[in-house]
Amino acid sequence: MDFRQIEEKWQRRWAEARVFEPSPEPGRPKFFITAAYPYPNGAIHIGHGRTYLIADIMARYHRHKGYNVLFPMGFHYTGTPILTVAESIAAGDVHAMEDFKAIYDVPEEELRKMGDPLYLANYFRELSKQYMKKIGFSIDWTREFTTIDPEYQQFIRWQFKKLYDKGLLVKGRHPVGWCPKHQMPVGAHDTKDDKEPDIGEWALIYFEGEDGLIYPTATLRPETVLGVTNLWINPEGDYAVAEVDGRKMVLSLDAAFKLSFQRKVKTVERTKGSSFVGRRVRNPVTGELVPIYPAPFVDVKTGTGVVMSVPAHAPYDYAALRDLGEVKLIPLISVEGYGEYPAKEVVERMGIRDQRDARLEDATKEVYMAEFSRGYMRQDVAERVGLHLPEPARSLLRGFFAAFIAGRPVREARDRIRAWMEAAGIGGGMYEIMNKPVYCRCGTEIVVKVLEDQWFLNYGDPNWKRATKELLASMRIVPDEARPQFEATIDWLDKRACARTRGLGTPLPWDPTWIIESLSDSTIYMAYYTVIRRIRELGLKPEQLTEAFWDYVFLGRGDAAEVARAIGADEKALRAVREEFSYWYPLDLRNSGKDLIPNHLTFFLFNHAAIFPRELWPRGIVANGWVLVEGEKMSKSKRNVLALGKAVDQFGADPLRATLATSAEVDQDLDFRSSAARSVAKHLEDIYNLVVSTAERAARDGEGLPEMWLRSEAASLMEKAARALDQVSVRQAAVYVLYDMRRALERYLEMVDVPSRAVLEVLKAWAVAMEPFVPHLAEELWERLGERPFAAKAPWPRLAVDRRTLLAVRYADRLVEDIAGLRELRKDAKRAVIYVNNNFAWIKAAVKARDVRELISAGVPGEVAKRLFDVARQMDDDLKALIEEVEDFDEYSALAELKTFLSRELGMEVDIYRADDGKAPDLGGKRRAALPLRAGVYLE
Ligand SMILES: [Zn+2]
Repeated sequence: MDFRQIEEKWQRRWAEARVFEPSPEPGRPKFFITAAYPYPNGAIHIGHGRTYLIADIMARYHRHKGYNVLFPMGFHYTGTPILTVAESIAAGDVHAMEDFKAIYDVPEEELRKMGDPLYLANYFRELSKQYMKKIGFSIDWTREFTTIDPEYQQFIRWQFKKLYDKGLLVKGRHPVGWCPKHQMPVGAHDTKDDKEPDIGEWALIYFEGEDGLIYPTATLRPETVLGVTNLWINPEGDYAVAEVDGRKMVLSLDAAFKLSFQRKVKTVERTKGSSFVGRRVRNPVTGELVPIYPAPFVDVKTGTGVVMSVPAHAPYDYAALRDLGEVKLIPLISVEGYGEYPAKEVVERMGIRDQRDARLEDATKEVYMAEFSRGYMRQDVAERVGLHLPEPARSLLRGFFAAFIAGRPVREARDRIRAWMEAAGIGGGMYEIMNKPVYCRCGTEIVVKVLEDQWFLNYGDPNWKRATKELLASMRIVPDEARPQFEATIDWLDKRACARTRGLGTPLPWDPTWIIESLSDSTIYMAYYTVIRRIRELGLKPEQLTEAFWDYVFLGRGDAAEVARAIGADEKALRAVREEFSYWYPLDLRNSGKDLIPNHLTFFLFNHAAIFPRELWPRGIVANGWVLVEGEKMSKSKRNVLALGKAVDQFGADPLRATLATSAEVDQDLDFRSSAARSVAKHLEDIYNLVVSTAERAARDGEGLPEMWLRSEAASLMEKAARALDQVSVRQAAVYVLYDMRRALERYLEMVDVPSRAVLEVLKAWAVAMEPFVPHLAEELWERLGERPFAAKAPWPRLAVDRRTLLAVRYADRLVEDIAGLRELRKDAKRAVIYVNNNFAWIKAAVKARDVRELISAGVPGEVAKRLFDVARQMDDDLKALIEEVEDFDEYSALAELKTFLSRELGMEVDIYRADDGKAPDLGGKRRAALPLRAGVYLE
C-alpha cells in the first residue's frame, strides 16, 4: 500500500478546502490548543513530532466533538540557539555542517550560506513546516509568524511594558549564570544540553595566617568552624595569592578566576599549593592556631581550594587525618543516636579503609543529614570562642554564643554564625554553579557573575508567586504527577535575568542595548496567534500596534473610537481584532515535552497570571515524556537524531503517527523502534483491506444479532475511546480504535456468511473514530464508503448500543470457553446439547444480592439459590454491569440466533433446548442443572 500517495492527496485537498483555518463563529464552542514553537536551528525531529502529534490528535478529536478548533504554529528565532549554530558554521566548523548533512540531508550549497543566522533559520523553518505538513498536522498556517517579525516585537514590547508597570521587572544586583567568552547571562536555552545552571553559595571563612595572608575556606557548614583542627590545601594544585576587595588571600587559581566575576580580584602571585603546606593560621572564631596539611583530595575547581578540616563531624577529614596519624577530635554537635564523634563512629562502623575509600561519600551524607535534621550545638561551644580576644571582647563574644548558638538546632546556628561572621568581616560568600560543569553553547564553561544594574523578571515576588499558584490550582495538568513539579518550580524561582547582549529578538524598550531573551519572550504568545491573521488582513502597520492598541485588544482597556483615532485605524477594524481575541482566549490546552516544566511552562503560568485577568488564564497543560530511538537517547554526536520528515518518508505518515500514538502513554517515555513502525504499517494496510473488502462484500440487507452486536461493540469502543481522549490518554484511545475495533470487525465476519449492508454505518463510524490518529487512511476509507467531503469534519460517531446483544455475545463467548473445557475430557464429542434456563430475573437478583438468603427472598427457589449465588460471584464487573443494565433477556432466542456462530467456534453440532421444555430429553441430568447464564451442557 502506498501510504505516501494517499497522504499527499489528502494533504492537498485539506489545504485547498482550507479545512484547518478557522474563524470565530460566535455561539459555537471553541477549542484553542498550542504546542511550544520550535527554534529553527535545525529541523524538527521525532521528539518534537510526538508532542505536536498529541496536540494534533486532541485538535482533531475536538473537531469531531463539534468544537471550532484553532491549532496554530510559529517559529522561535529569539536568542542564542540559532546564532550560535550559524556562528560555528561561519567559522568553518565542519562538525556542525556534517551533522546537518547527515541528519537533514541539507545540500552542500545551502550549507555554505548558513553562516548567516537568518538564512539558516529561514531554511530550517521551511523544512520544519514541510515536515509538519507531511505528517498531516492540522495546523492553521495562516497565523504563522516568527519572533523577529516587527508585529511580534511590538507585542513583546507591550508585554514588557505591562510587567514593568506592575513592578515585576526589577533592576539590581543578582547572581546569574554567565559566559565569560560572550560576556552575557546564560539560562537553560543558552547552554549545551539545555542545562539550567544551578547557582548556589559557599560560606567563606577567613583564617588569618601567621604570614599575614587570608586563607578563605569555602564550606556549606559554617557552624563547624568551631571544630576545626587544621586546613587542607592540595599540594599539586595551582594556587594564587590575590587581592580580593583589597585583602590578600590564598585561593586556587580557578577560584580566583571565578571570584573575579563577583568581586574585585587581582592576582599577585601564582604558585603550587605545596608552598603553603605547614604554615599556621588562626581560627577567626575560636582563636586557635591550626596547621595547614596537604590533601590530594581537595578539588581546586570546587569552592576556593582551601578547606576546613573538622574530623569529629566530617568523615573525609577523619579518614584523611587517620591516614596521617594526626587525629585530634573537637566535638561541637550532639545528635541523638550518635556518640561525641559521629564521623569517627560512622567511618569505623562502615569499615572504611582510608581517604580514597568510595564509601566516604555515603558516610558524609549520613552524618550531614543526621546533624542537619536532628543535631544541636553543644552547650560548651561558647567557652571555646574568642581565645585570642582581649577582655571585654572575649566575654561579649562568649555571651553572644551562649545566647544564640549553644544548644540551638544546627540549621538555626548555621545561619546565625554565617550572618555574624559576614558582619564581623571574618567571612563572606562566593557563588558557584553547583551542577557544574555547565557549558555555554559556544563551549565555554559558565561561571556565576554578580550583575549590577541588570534587568530581572522578579519571579521571587511573593504576590506574583501566589497568583501563579492560584492559576496552577485552577488548571488541568496532564499527567497529574507533574503538578508538584510545577509547585516546586514556582517556589524556588527567583529573579531571572531577562535580557542578553546578543542574539536575535526584541530590544528592551527602555534600554535597547539589551535583547529580551528567548525564555522571556515566549510566555504569552498564544494570545498573539489569535489576532495576527486579522492584523495582517486589515493591513495594520507595526507602528500602529502601540501600547494603547494591545491594551484595547487584550485587556479591553480604553475606548475603541479613541484608540482607533490615535493609531490612525478604522474603529470597526480595531473592534474586529478584539472580537477575535475574545472568541479564542483563553487557551484550552498547552502541549510540550516535560523538560520544559522547570522553565518555559512555569514562566507561561507566571506571565499569564501577571498580565491577564483570571477569566483569560490558560486551562490546561499536557507535558509528555521523552522519545528514544531504538533504545537510545537522540543526540547530534551519535547522529541518531531522527528528522521527522525522514521518518515520514521511511514509514509513511499514518504508520508513524499510529506508532507514536500506541508505543507509550502520554506521560511515559517512548522508545521508537522501526520494527514497530513497520508492523503498524502492515496493521493499517490490513485495516484498509478489511474495510474495503467488507464494504464490497456487503450484499444483503437486514440487521440480525451479529449486526446489532457489531454496532453495539463499536459504539462501546468509541465511547471508551472518547472517554480516554477526554483524559488525554492517547495510547489507550488508539488501542480501542485501531486494535480492538479491528478485532470486533473480524469477529463479526466470523459470525456471518455474507456481511450485511447494515454494517456500512459501523465502517463509516470507524473511519471517523480513527481519523485523529490516522487521518489520511480515514479520509481514504471515508471516500471509499461513499462519503464527502472530509472525515475530519464529521461528528464523533454516535451508534446505537443494544446492550442485550452485547450480553448475548459475551455470554456466548463464555459458553464456548466452558464447552471447550469440557471437551478436554470428551475429545471424541461430535455434538453439544445446550439447556437454557430462561429465568433472567434470577441472575439479575443474584448479581445484586449480598447473600443467599437475600436471593431466596427475592424469589429464587431455595434449591438453586446457593449455586446461582456462586455463579454471580465469579462474574467480572463488566459482565455484572451489563446484566444490571439489561432489563429483559431471552437467553434461549439469543443463543438460537448465535447457533451458527457457536457451532463454527466449537467445530461441532449444537442443539439448544429450553430447560423447562418437558419434551426435551434430559441427557446426563443437564437439563435440570441449567441455571440462567450458566447453561447445562451435555457432550456426545
Ligand atoms: Zn558563550
